[in-house]
Amino acid sequence: MPPNIVDVRANMPNYETYKDWNRNATILGITIHHPATADRSTGGPTGDAYSYFNYHVNGRGWAHGGYNYVITGDGAIQYALDDKIAAYHAGFNDPDNSEGLEYGQYWNNHYLAICLSGWFSTDRTYQDGGETHVIPDNDTYPRQAQLASLMALIRHLRQSYDILVENVRVHRELTGNATQCPGLNMDPAQIRQQLRQDPSPPSPQPTPQPGEHVILVPDTDIYLNAALTYIWKFQPDVSFAPQAAAGKWRYITAIGPIGDDLRAEYKHRGAQIVDHIAGEQAPIIQQLDDLVAKNQRFLSYEEPPPDPTQPVTYTVQPGDSLSKIALQFYGKASLWTVIFTANRDIISDPGRIRVGMVLKIPPNP
Ligand SMILES: [Zn+2]
Repeated sequence: MPPNIVDVRANMPNYETYKDWNRNATILGITIHHPATADRSTGGPTGDAYSYFNYHVNGRGWAHGGYNYVITGDGAIQYALDDKIAAYHAGFNDPDNSEGLEYGQYWNNHYLAICLSGWFSTDRTYQDGGETHVIPDNDTYPRQAQLASLMALIRHLRQSYDILVENVRVHRELTGNATQCPGLNMDPAQIRQQLRQDPSPPSPQPTPQPGEHVILVPDTDIYLNAALTYIWKFQPDVSFAPQAAAGKWRYITAIGPIGDDLRAEYKHRGAQIVDHIAGEQAPIIQQLDDLVAKNQRFLSYEEPPPDPTQPVTYTVQPGDSLSKIALQFYGKASLWTVIFTANRDIISDPGRIRVGMVLKIPPNP
């Protein structure tokens, strides 16, 4: 969790009635909002989760407030509505489901809502006594502390829900929503650009099936004793014949004196992982016990590179068209026909693809 998060869920109006509700839908994205309110004399951000929720519930009659998180002007993150509850933040009227977006509820069902206190545009005014007054041009951009909290929160949520960078959006980017929210001074492209530069998480460790992983132990009691805890924990096959191991196991943990040539031979004959733990008995025990303590079977793991001759798949997102997808994968919108041809079994009209369809994307022609 980001460090400056404050859990205020139970303090929100009407909490007892909705606290056990459940969105019953997969969380796929994040939407950023602003309340479009500013202090009339300073132009700075005003309000917090409680005042927004109070307005939504007691002013507008909603069952609960419209955001999952609020980031106040000082950068504090308020966790206001549980992630498991769909916030009313970007629904639109579509009784015939003509957009194919769950009758206008797609964004509410699948996207979390974060609201940054403030009003992020210029030309802000308010009405009073029949006159229009100008709000001073301060804080027309989110404050640094707010942006820092926003990025930390998005990173945390992306990790929790495996959210694609493309699905981190601002309100005005959502189909069916005619709004400038969260103000034209909030640039979603910049946020996504920063997220794309984040280092990717380490590859997951493979989980071998029985018979796929072996520990190779040179034929002495010393090395077998060194490996006992590891063997007990991970239950690999055990072989005392390193010379005969090539081609027999997918994952190999070799301990003690096993030569470079032999390890290259294992790789050459199809082993995906060849770990080598060299040295004397004591350092070998130390390394194997470290792996056991970390519940980590392998020292290192590199994803095998994708095979460029095999088609990949892509799940259609809201707002996609075949030409947009072709542009994304091939750099050329006109190559949409390649994708259409490869998916004739599920697409009848190339002008109408549905959100959630899984398309085969052939290699770049
Ligand atoms: Zn909004």
